[in-house]
Amino acid sequence: MTFLEPGDPQTTAEHLGGAFREAFGAPAQVVGRAPGRVNLIGEHTDYNAGLVLPLALAHATFAAARRRTDDRVRVRSRQSDETWEGTLAEASAAPGWAGYAAGVLWALAEREGVPVPGMDVLVDSTVPLGAGLSSSAALECAVAVAAVALADQELDDDLRARLVRAAMTAETEVVGAPTGGMDQTIAMHGRGGAALLIDFRSGEHRPVPLDLDDLGLTVLVTDTRVSHALHDGGYASRRADCEEAARLLGLPSLREATLEQVEGLADDRLRRRARHIVTEIARVTATVEALAEQDRAALGRLFLASHVSMRDDFEISCEELDTVVETAVEAGAVGARMTGGGFGGSAVSLVPTERVSAVVRAIDARFVTAGFRAPAHLLGVPSVGAGRLG
Ligand code: ADP
Ligand code: MG
Repeated sequence: MTFLEPGDPQTTAEHLGGAFREAFGAPAQVVGRAPGRVNLIGEHTDYNAGLVLPLALAHATFAAARRRTDDRVRVRSRQSDETWEGTLAEASAAPGWAGYAAGVLWALAEREGVPVPGMDVLVDSTVPLGAGLSSSAALECAVAVAAVALADQELDDDLRARLVRAAMTAETEVVGAPTGGMDQTIAMHGRGGAALLIDFRSGEHRPVPLDLDDLGLTVLVTDTRVSHALHDGGYASRRADCEEAARLLGLPSLREATLEQVEGLADDRLRRRARHIVTEIARVTATVEALAEQDRAALGRLFLASHVSMRDDFEISCEELDTVVETAVEAGAVGARMTGGGFGGSAVSLVPTERVSAVVRAIDARFVTAGFRAPAHLLGVPSVGAGRLG
């Protein structure tokens, strides 16, 4: 049984240090770390002023950095052949992956008023890219943490909030990928041994203890390796549908809508889109209660209802994701659902720990039979949010 391993942070940082010296001819001065995430439940609810319940993974992105004497920025990644170099001002138009890495530096300086020196940055990551596990926010936040460490700023709650906003700005304005804010918030505020309940109406978040040992459950994450990036228009159109539904109901957002109001929408597509959001927000609250009561059966029902809602009402699943969910449950998972933006990416299953290898084997076998590309699995261990190493 092979899982994508998170790697030991200290070992990863040491390797990165060596590679940094080779790339830039001088040692790194700081290393920032930011985790990927898996969302337990609450999909597409963040931009509807709703609730989400992600956990920060042990899998993370690391950014080693060194201050320069001029105002230039150079960014490289061990996951990309493209390097980028330019001034901070030019970073607002950085292309490709540098839009995340250099874009966040521009956003920090220009939008958040955080002083950012010229710097060289080298990135490495154990978060699979484009798998719906938020390698993009991990990249933005790791680079941002390295930058504020170089500027000797203390990473208190206020600065963390500004880093979240800068990372969102990089993603929406520089890269041009719409994002609701869940990914950046969990990357900066994740807690070991807990999921994070984030309320996008109040802006508040709080850890929800996730004692998997007590529950006897393992969080199994399966990357279908179907790239969701190919369908980015799908995310934008779902968002537009939600805004239109709220407008027709005369509400500021679907967070305010009742199921009864939603069922009254005349347009079938908008009704189904809005129904997903309203029921999904209720499922997040119910999941928090089920966790507190250690009610595995309820957790399983909520996960499956969430998946069906995304498959049929929100229409963001795909054959591979449906196959993971169906197979995981047949092989003994308590519940399973697609996670992340959809159209590919990953599924998350709650599996009685003694059943994990049986579930993984069943999914792998079913993918072979179906002629799908082999999936990749990893374990979702609730881990700490972004910070400076060492
Ligand atoms: P996800 O966030 O679910 O992994 P996205 O499409 O939002 O998927 O972000 C993936 C993109 O982020 C990649 O295509 C790449 O441009 C960029 N990226 C993320 N991590 C890295 C990295 N370590 N090195 C280079 N680029 C990265
Ligand atoms: Mg992303």
